[in-house]
Amino acid sequence: MKIAIAGAGAMGGRFGYMLGKAGMDVLLVDQWEPHIAAIREHGLQVNNDGVHETVQLPIYTPEELDSAQVEFDLVILFPKSLQLDGMLQAIRPILKSHTNVLCLLNGLGHETTVEKYVAKENIFIGCTMWTAGLEGPGKIKLLGGGNVVLQNLGEHSKQTALQIAELLSAANLKAAYSDHVIYEIYKKACANGATNAICTLLESNLTTFGNTSCAEAIVRTVVNEYAAVAAMEGVILEVEAITNFVKGAFDPAGIGRHYPSMYQDLILTNRRTEVDCINGIIEEKGKAYNISTPYCALITQLTHCKEDILGAS
Ligand code: NAD
Repeated sequence: MKIAIAGAGAMGGRFGYMLGKAGMDVLLVDQWEPHIAAIREHGLQVNNDGVHETVQLPIYTPEELDSAQVEFDLVILFPKSLQLDGMLQAIRPILKSHTNVLCLLNGLGHETTVEKYVAKENIFIGCTMWTAGLEGPGKIKLLGGGNVVLQNLGEHSKQTALQIAELLSAANLKAAYSDHVIYEIYKKACANGATNAICTLLESNLTTFGNTSCAEAIVRTVVNEYAAVAAMEGVILEVEAITNFVKGAFDPAGIGRHYPSMYQDLILTNRRTEVDCINGIIEEKGKAYNISTPYCALITQLTHCKEDILGAS
């Protein structure tokens, strides 16, 4: 199976590294020139929980791939949500009628964007608890464990979804098929919604935020807002269980030392964040369902204030 990872930053690097190490036929697609040059010259340098490794992975720009006329069985999307539409436009020539596309971005509603470019039967959506950070061009830092949950969007592609889960698991990515992936996506979105922007605003990692006196109350309130909105879509989120799940991310022995990707965007690289797809979308859905979501609304606004103050682009 020929696999392309579209967006070879932190998470694309992690998936490329793990798939490549497992002997899969995988290549990276990105547009960031210094990153591409570093990977071509030195390989992808990985700091995996303190163990340093280098893996050789081919990396191309979307334009190079188009002219090389390479075909793929599976494209795994890993741009930021604000970049998803642009990425799909850029890789459109490699999206053939047999190319399956897996979208594991954080946040809600990405399938609407993917459906503009890919037939429903070829789309697979899900979420991942793996984490990753970029340390500079060609360098990623990996902490802790994770998993992947996915499902076919089209009615007739369950068998392919099972095969994709099996393929990822063969690379130790711990992937499972779910008949109700929207529940899993909402659950993961709760974790992002209750921690990513807050850690960015507080400039803290997950453990540092988790150790504050207000963390539990903030997490519980945000999860309540998600649960109220999700219930309107027939997705039942158990507030207590999901609050505990979110708090699990604060464990320093797990992913607690991780700085969420929104922090990496805004604080480290001065880029605008994905907050609209994570907290903003709950505010938006809440308005449509006549449900009050003041925490998600304030988190979204404060994050945009911070983007403005820092002059993020
Ligand atoms: P990132 O910014 O590190 O990587 C995105 C990459 O996509 C960049 O290298 C960028 O150059 C590339 N890209 C964007 N548009 C492109 C285009 N048009 N053509 C070619 N390349 C393009 O982002 P990340 O942290 O890896 O996050 C990716 C997604 O995964 C996000 O939705 C994020 O929320 C989600 N996620 C991240 C983590 C994490 O720990 N970092 C964990 C789970 C989920």
